[in-house]
Amino acid sequence: MPPVRHPLNMTILKILEFPDPRLRTKARPVEKVDDALRQLIDDLFETMYAAPGIGLAATQVNFHQRLLVADVSADKTEPHVLINPQILELDGVQVTEEGCLSVPGFYEEVERAERVRVCFLDRDGVVVETEFEGMLAVCVQHEIDHLQGRLFVDYLSETKRQRIRKRLIKDRRSQAAV
Ligand code: ZN
Repeated sequence: MPPVRHPLNMTILKILEFPDPRLRTKARPVEKVDDALRQLIDDLFETMYAAPGIGLAATQVNFHQRLLVADVSADKTEPHVLINPQILELDGVQVTEEGCLSVPGFYEEVERAERVRVCFLDRDGVVVETEFEGMLAVCVQHEIDHLQGRLFVDYLSETKRQRIRKRLIKDRRSQAAV
């Protein structure tokens, strides 16, 4: 069966790439969960699935509000929307290889909590408190970092981060020259 398409118009948004300084912006809390915000949520999902990626923070598409989407399922059937997420508790340790749609082509090991308890609003503005674990916990911690202007490369050594920065700037210059 073909995937069920959302009836609304959706737009694929442009994803900012490291070292774009706008990725360092601290997002403001969402004040109102309304249809305009839900349209942005749909666009975030469309952009994330098209990339393809398993998580996307509003910061990455230059909307600086505390909002993220995630779906770590293989068949894109478990969408999560977290509005104004607050981490309540972190527990355990896991090391996984992370990538980021804003740092294309680079994957590095990062240490995160194994479980994370988070409070947030869902797409109807209802307060939810839940615990994520495993890959979803990694993803949620990674995306909440984005909302604070932090990137996974910040957990790497200065040498590694500079190497990635230079490489991405060089790639972009050669693309622009074509
Ligand atoms: Zn990312």
